[in-house]
Amino acid sequence: MSGRLAIVGLGPGDVRYLTPQASEALAAAQALYGYGPYLDRVPARPGQARYASDNREERDRAAAALKAAAEGATVAIVSGGDPGVFAMAAAACEAIEAGPERYRTLDVEVVPGVTAMLAVAARIGAPLGHDFCALSLSDNLKPWDLIERRLDAAASAGFVIALYNPVSRARPWQFGYALERLRRHLPPATPVVFGRAVGRPDEHIDVVMLERAVTAQVDMATLVIVGSRETRVIQRPGRVPLVYTPRTAATVSA
Ligand code: SAH
Repeated sequence: MSGRLAIVGLGPGDVRYLTPQASEALAAAQALYGYGPYLDRVPARPGQARYASDNREERDRAAAALKAAAEGATVAIVSGGDPGVFAMAAAACEAIEAGPERYRTLDVEVVPGVTAMLAVAARIGAPLGHDFCALSLSDNLKPWDLIERRLDAAASAGFVIALYNPVSRARPWQFGYALERLRRHLPPATPVVFGRAVGRPDEHIDVVMLERAVTAQVDMATLVIVGSRETRVIQRPGRVPLVYTPRTAATVSA
């Protein structure tokens, strides 16, 4: 019996971000696995089982889904945004690598979704128009000094930086420290975009200068885009500004 495992990206929230491929994979699944709030976004289907788990139980969730697939079921693990960006696709690969040989014979499909940084960038213009990188500020799975080194390297090399997981209840200080680190490399007027709950009813977008950025502007549903020295803000009467990074870079940022 050969089971199937799909790891499906739901996009940032709004159902219009759900791709037709993701809809097909969700419809085909006999069982869905995922963090409760993500599962809640998927309309109920008769006969389809659902296994909601806590956000921090990624390893157990991947293991449970793989076990069911190995027994012949067609299962889907759901992730917000894209499943390959700080999410379940890597957790599933880790479980396959560490698991029994039969996991390697499964049909595994990763179904991409619109990741938060792309949804936020689209809302505000084109801040990712030139070279950029993405970093998770969570030090649950890596040490904080590695995060600081990566912030230093990215900011000094002139990358625009998308920051995922800026804070959580258990990690209240990390974003403030990151700002302090970034200010060592970037001018005070560098644009910083705060995109909160993009694609959901409580969406909120804000642009401030790096010198004004504070921890109170972020929560667990916020994606932060820190500009480079090249990133520009176009003020517009009665409208949110357009933030963009030109496609050409004249200098190596110091
Ligand atoms: N796989 C997800 C990211 C998971 S990490 C993706 O591709 O988007 C969780 C972090 O993603 C959050 O802390 C936040 O920084 C960001 N995020 C997820 N959904 C978001 C949304 N709708 N608006 C803004 N940021 C979001």
